[in-house]
Amino acid sequence: MPAKFRLGIDIGGNDIKFGATNLEADKILLPDLVKRPSLSAEGPQRTIRQTLDGIKDILISLRGQWPDVATIAVTVPCPCTSDGVIIEATNLGTPETKKLWQAPFGELLAAEVRKVAQVSIPVFACNDANAAGQDDDFARYGQSTSPRTNFFITTGTGLGGCILVNGAVFFGRGQSGELGHVKPAVPAQYAARFAADPNPPCGCGGRQCVEARASLKGLMRRLEWALGRGGISFIEQDLNGRGEELNGNVLAQLSARFLESPQSAA
Ligand SMILES: [Zn+2]
Repeated sequence: MPAKFRLGIDIGGNDIKFGATNLEADKILLPDLVKRPSLSAEGPQRTIRQTLDGIKDILISLRGQWPDVATIAVTVPCPCTSDGVIIEATNLGTPETKKLWQAPFGELLAAEVRKVAQVSIPVFACNDANAAGQDDDFARYGQSTSPRTNFFITTGTGLGGCILVNGAVFFGRGQSGELGHVKPAVPAQYAARFAADPNPPCGCGGRQCVEARASLKGLMRRLEWALGRGGISFIEQDLNGRGEELNGNVLAQLSARFLESPQSAA
């Protein structure tokens, strides 16, 4: 009979990643993460079915059973309240299925787990950047209660943020720390650059969000623009205006790298 363990699940737009730790959460039990397609475009219920299948894979690997699972912690790539209600499906779903994702995801998953497991397993769902920020704070300060306020930023497909007050995530109404969806004013000297590379719509439906430009996805989009005809001629003019010249070698190298792997070029 295996000892009880905890499950950590990261839901992304494309994949779901699964890991397991011991009860003290200081030992990872599987050397590699289990992965499954999230199928998030089809709505949360489809993703929940994928999640249950992934948990079954973990149970097989650990030779465990559902009652051995002490807790399930799930992260989602969108603003979420402290009790697991997704309030805006920024990086999940399609324009048609986004609305379905604005749901109490933690509760929905807990209900499906209860049906399959025949026992109640606590499920905690939260925003992925909040979880990463909490982990970072714990790694630095442990359980210290010393007064402190920290701001944590993480970049990946999107751009996430987390505010921590005295070691605890400040959730606010679920949107706090969502740096990626802040719409900063553009300083006058950069107005022409911003106008030349128009603001794309963000996953949240807004424009001018930081995430649409500074996330990995945003950087790849901007690089594609910069290496295109319109981008190159704009950069050339911009540099000439400052008495500088475009370095063809740099551009050729960047271009080759972008064709090879846009992600690594960004
Ligand atoms: Zn946004």
